[in-house]
Parts: sequence; structure tokens; C-alpha cells
Amino acid sequence: MSKVFIVVLVAIAVVVLAVTVPSFFKARQTRAVCACINSLRIIDAAKNEWMLEYHKTTNDMPTWDDLRPYCWSNRIPVCPDGGIYTLGRVGQLPVCSLGDKEPSHKL
Ligand SMILES: [Zn+2]
Repeated sequence: MSKVFIVVLVAIAVVVLAVTVPSFFKARQTRAVCACINSLRIIDAAKNEWMLEYHKTTNDMPTWDDLRPYCWSNRIPVCPDGGIYTLGRVGQLPVCSLGDKEPSHKL
């Protein structure tokens, strides 16, 4: 193998890595945001089911233990990026602490 051939191979490898690595991280970030938004939807649905079953109003505030029976496998969903969820009242949307981050973890 000539030195020119090796240099060309290394240059091609650098270009391929420069293109694929950022898109890999962007795809991972997009997946995490979608999972977080899905978790927020599950929590919001659980709040509404809790309200209907216990004849509460949109002004009542459930606890995590109140919502556990309405979540899959009795597990409260978590943010894949480590955000902390705030339940709020039934009439409010649940919020992730990374909601102001870009891309946003918001419903
Ligand atoms: Zn989140």
C-alpha cells in the first residue's frame, strides 16, 4: 500500500465520521424528547382517569401514588434525560424540568 492510498483512506474515514457522529447524537436526543413527551401524555391521561374515578375536579392535585394504578405496570414514567416531572393540578399539563431546554421536553 502506498502512503497516498493510506492518506485517502484516512481522509474518507474522517469525512464519514464527521457526517455520522453528529446525526447519531441528534437522533439520540430526538428519541429522548419523544419518549419524554410520551411519558408526559401518560401522566396527563392518568391524572384525568384519577379525576373521573374519584369524582375530583380539575382543581384537585393528585399524588404520584394516586396515579400509579393508571400507569403501565404501576410504574410512573420517567424522563430519559433525567428531568424531574411536576404533576400540578388535574387541569394543568404535567411539566418536565427540562421543558425550557432545546429541543423542548414539553407537551
Ligand atoms: Zn424530559
